[in-house]
Amino acid sequence: MHNWNDHFDLLIKSRTPLIFIRSREEERVETLVDQASKRLSPRRLATWDYINGLQRLLNSDGIGAKQPMAVLQWLQNLESSTPTILLAKDFHKFSEDAGIARMLRNLASELREKAHTIVLVAADWDPPKDLEDLLTILDLPLPKENELRSLLRNIANASDSTLEKDVLEELTHACSGLSEIRVRQVAARALAQRGRLSKEDLSEVLEEKRQSIAQSEVLEYFETNATQGDIGGLDSLKNWLNQRHQAFSDEARTFGLPLPRGVLLIGPQGTGKSLTAKAIAHSWSMPLLRLDVGRLFAGLVGASEARTRETIHRAEAMAPCVLWIDEIDKGFGGDARSDGGTSQRVLANVLTWMAEKTSAVFVVATANGVDRLPPELLRKGRFDEIFLLDLPSRQERSSILRLHINRKRPGISIPLEAIIDRTEGFSGAELEQTVIEGMHFAFAEKRELLETDLILASSQLIPLSRTAKEQLKFLKEWASSGRARPASLKIK
Ligand code: ATP
Repeated sequence: MHNWNDHFDLLIKSRTPLIFIRSREEERVETLVDQASKRLSPRRLATWDYINGLQRLLNSDGIGAKQPMAVLQWLQNLESSTPTILLAKDFHKFSEDAGIARMLRNLASELREKAHTIVLVAADWDPPKDLEDLLTILDLPLPKENELRSLLRNIANASDSTLEKDVLEELTHACSGLSEIRVRQVAARALAQRGRLSKEDLSEVLEEKRQSIAQSEVLEYFETNATQGDIGGLDSLKNWLNQRHQAFSDEARTFGLPLPRGVLLIGPQGTGKSLTAKAIAHSWSMPLLRLDVGRLFAGLVGASEARTRETIHRAEAMAPCVLWIDEIDKGFGGDARSDGGTSQRVLANVLTWMAEKTSAVFVVATANGVDRLPPELLRKGRFDEIFLLDLPSRQERSSILRLHINRKRPGISIPLEAIIDRTEGFSGAELEQTVIEGMHFAFAEKRELLETDLILASSQLIPLSRTAKEQLKFLKEWASSGRARPASLKIK
């Protein structure tokens, strides 16, 4: 989007009667609209809320308190000689009323003659269809880098404190993804505690971000220490990821490479898909945001799309970051008939975003199967690559077992040949489970872990692959037709 202010000014100048600004930041919207009214003088700004009625107009203050219809009538009768922008707070809530809805529709045509504009502001509102066509919808993105920089500078100036240039840059960078109010809160706390903005505030900013993500309900800020060293096997996937990591650099941009989009990991349970998502974020030093698809759809019908948009905004504002969409097949496998098409529309929003996105948000989506995955998701151009994580080969089982034994009982050496032979069809998670079970046997007898413990443990575990054979076969056939790449290196 080009400059937001220019865009808004243009809408006002072209006599747009009804503007809906999608944002959670009501105060910031008021400031922006106020600035616009000054730029577009002699236009003036009036605000309305249910309790106080009209505000900011000396002679009309208080009109329409507790009477939403009255304020619309007031605007309807207002002379053209005083062009007015009416910022009506919470007004979307009253649009449910048939009378108000009718009046808004009438005004939508009348106001074109009069140069007055009604501005609505809300974050989670999907306007009813008949109103939607009359509204001009404008998203207000979270503050951009230059806005944050001047915001921080203004805060420092207002408190007469000095702000070193490099501190300003670091703070600006760290604050990306926070709303203006939150930046002000962090700054106010810092000023109260230390009397200035400094590098020490960085950790608080990060904490604030974590909380702003926590607020979103749909996104979770996921802490992890996992690295690629924790993953046994999957070498082809690891090589590919290392290559893509380099493609985030400025050199790659100069070279003409596009930003990596993301990867889809498909495979049976316990093959290391989640582990891979965590390792990517940690080894690329990016925050990991886990998206709970189920929660996108929870709650009010119709709110899902608004929630999706907000989630995407939040993730973009945190860029560079890894957006982990866990079990994407479960979330979007919804039945269009049962949910009124909501999951289809939400999916369409996500897909459009993925196809068009220019931000450094790397999407890692995981799925257990393909039968419930919408075909659009598998089309080229959504993900950079689709990988099939199969059950580990002999060699991979060896490295996975070794990894878990080394981590849990460092320093001991156990021959693994026999166990590797007996664990064909085990997933990585089941191999880990075998090691833990074996350790229980050893611990109960107060001795070190032995080969026999692992053999016993493996004989007692029935791997999922035995029961899910058909499904796995189907998945492999699907992948072998060139639709997905094997995550493991082929060995002769
Ligand atoms: P699900 O489909 O059930 O979500 P998943 O493929 O995401 O499964 P993970 O959660 O990554 O599986 O695996 C569970 C645990 O199993 C991991 O935390 C790890 O300890 C172990 N594990 C799985 N695969 C591997 C592997 N390739 N190397 C080492 N450990 C592994």
